[in-house]
Amino acid sequence: MTELRSVEKSVKVKREVLEVSSELMSLMGQFLRQKGFIEILPVIISPITDPLNHSVFNASIEYYDGQYSLTKSMIFHKQLAMRIHPKIFSFSPNVRLETQEKRKSGRHLIEFTQLDLEMRGATREDVMLLVEEMLAHTFAMVKEKFESFLKDANPHFSIPKTPFKHVKYLEALKEYGDEFESVLSEQALEPFWLIDIPIDEREFYDKLDDNEKTLKDMDLMYPYGFNEASSGGEREFEYEQIIDRMKHKGNDFESMKWYLEEVKKGIPSSAGCGIGIERLTRFICNLSSVEEARLFAKVPGELSI
Ligand code: ASP
Ligand code: MG
Repeated sequence: MTELRSVEKSVKVKREVLEVSSELMSLMGQFLRQKGFIEILPVIISPITDPLNHSVFNASIEYYDGQYSLTKSMIFHKQLAMRIHPKIFSFSPNVRLETQEKRKSGRHLIEFTQLDLEMRGATREDVMLLVEEMLAHTFAMVKEKFESFLKDANPHFSIPKTPFKHVKYLEALKEYGDEFESVLSEQALEPFWLIDIPIDEREFYDKLDDNEKTLKDMDLMYPYGFNEASSGGEREFEYEQIIDRMKHKGNDFESMKWYLEEVKKGIPSSAGCGIGIERLTRFICNLSSVEEARLFAKVPGELSI
């Protein structure tokens, strides 16, 4: 039986870290509102959720004759929201019951929050430019407000220089081998984009490029070994193409039937991404793990309050 993680550990988060995290969410929300985005309320349970590209323990709830899943990401709801409003964001709580080895990464919690954003008719490039501008602005404001704390806590804190470098996934893999993400993140002094991720390495909803091998998607990577910050991309939105991609990936059609019915009626093209709040807080405050980036952190392999 798994021990309950001590309550003391779960609440041992520096006050300044919580203040930075709170400020980050406020600044990014303000920034997006100024750009014409609206904040929508997050979805916590739904019969449809992100199948992810790796397996996690099941997190679902029986309800009458059906089943709700806890949201793994808001991707499908973001696509459906595009029918109503062209620019949306949400601070979306995600539950991904990862296995305990994931704890070592310092980047995984089984409950985390992402700033999920989506833009109708946008390209991957539009999203990258928006995120670059948002982060540069947010870092500058945070620096001003938390100057003395950050000086002590994070000797390499700096306002990211835009535009960020683009690194092609397959080229990096060829040059640095399987561990290329960590290698590149450790070498880097600035955030950078990992782009053109191969079809088998991501979920079916990232749009396939004309070359039919790589996707029009991107991961944002932090420097100094902090690794993945965000993933996103242009989306598949055409019914036939989505069916092909799900078949290719071996996704379950039954659990996705409501999504597919909606896609059949028509959903707009869009692009977007999800930026992990705990990872961003960890990076800015130079923390050894996301465990220190939020109160009541749910660590893989443990039970916590
Ligand atoms: N796929 C992202 C995730 O991992 C979200 C996104 O693409 O917007 O949650
Ligand atoms: Mg993802």
